[in-house]
Amino acid sequence: MITSKTQLVGLFGHPVHHSQSPVMHNAAFAAIHLPFAYAAFDVAPDALGEAVKGIRALSLRGVNVTIPHKVAIVPLLDEIDPLAKRIGAVNTVVNENGRLIGYNTDGNGYVRSLLEETNIRLTNQVVVMIGAGGAARAVACTLAEHGVKEIRIVNRSREKAQMLAELLSSSVSTSVIDPQQAGEAISDASLLINTTSIGMYPHVEEMPVAAEWLRPDLVVSDLIYNPLETKLLQTAKALGAKTHSGVGMFINQGALAFELWTGRSAPTELMRETVLRQLQHGGT
Ligand code: NAP
Repeated sequence: MITSKTQLVGLFGHPVHHSQSPVMHNAAFAAIHLPFAYAAFDVAPDALGEAVKGIRALSLRGVNVTIPHKVAIVPLLDEIDPLAKRIGAVNTVVNENGRLIGYNTDGNGYVRSLLEETNIRLTNQVVVMIGAGGAARAVACTLAEHGVKEIRIVNRSREKAQMLAELLSSSVSTSVIDPQQAGEAISDASLLINTTSIGMYPHVEEMPVAAEWLRPDLVVSDLIYNPLETKLLQTAKALGAKTHSGVGMFINQGALAFELWTGRSAPTELMRETVLRQLQHGGT
């Protein structure tokens, strides 16, 4: 129930109507009786500055930030957490008495779910990452912080892969691989991560790599969560490989934001059940 004591949080994005975040967070607040409510705000790109001022003016406790605002919001905040600064993007803002602090929980949400679901030891991993966009930056910077052995980046546009490799080069051994050479790069890797939208609904028959490059001893991870199991993951699973879908990353990035706003542990299992129920009923 919303009362005069309710603390408001929300989502800034454009569009936002497809987002699972409001249902997921409101179910979590209700489950542990926290006086919080989460709303989705469709903020056009030219209104972002006014919307950020609105966080202070209306005393919102914080917001999540999604496409297309994750990079544009950085200079509008008072302080940026070091990992978010390195990634160059913010997905969570916390309002500490009018001072707006930006965080990025995407990478840590990814790593938390990868460890929970696969039990791999990060320091042993030779990673092939397909894609070099915003999500790839968050995941790669966080994997580098956790001490993975090596990251090989494969991307359609080589310049973007090179930019990401430069960003990572001070913290992890990194190389840029041409898409034609990806099979060779995967052949002695331990973890393959798809960070592109290849295979996402409605193009569910597409795969970011050839099926013959997959092996039973490769851990295969996909950031996509619609569909819950992409063609890449289905193919890897059929070979006997361990797989990891994007739904865990989505839940855990939300759980970390929840913890930053409330100071309480998030009820992640309930959040997962809520999101899975929504997705299975045709949400995106
Ligand atoms: P982005 O910044 O636009 O980056 C997209 C990446 O995919 C780029 O590397 C792009 O290559 C590549 N790409 C797109 N279409 C391609 C195609 N047809 N062929 C080859 N490469 C292609 O997007 P993003 O924000 O990083 O999101 C990427 C994916 O991650 C999306 O599927 C998104 O749903 C998912 N994601 C999941 C979560 C989660 O919580 N699970 C969170 C964030 C994102 P170029 O550089 O050549 O354009």
